[in-house]
Amino acid sequence: MSKESKLYRRNKEILYERHNYDPGTKTKNIHHIIFKSEGGTDEMENLALIDRELHAFIHKLIQNMDNIAKKELLEKLKNDPQFNK
Ligand SMILES: [Zn+2]
Repeated sequence: MSKESKLYRRNKEILYERHNYDPGTKTKNIHHIIFKSEGGTDEMENLALIDRELHAFIHKLIQNMDNIAKKELLEKLKNDPQFNK
């Protein structure tokens, strides 16, 4: 596991609080909307707290997508009011 940045740790706490989420339950994950490996940052606008199953599903989908479909999905996620708000 890569080292978490200070910014990530701070934003993580903010997200947990915003969603009233207890990380001890391990039912949700933080997802980087634009993957870190693709230049995504730890800024709040790039983070989403989502259900663990949905998270796994998204990663599975993305793995099998071409770049155009990937971009489309990322745009959708970024604009989904469920995320980050
Ligand atoms: Zn993820």
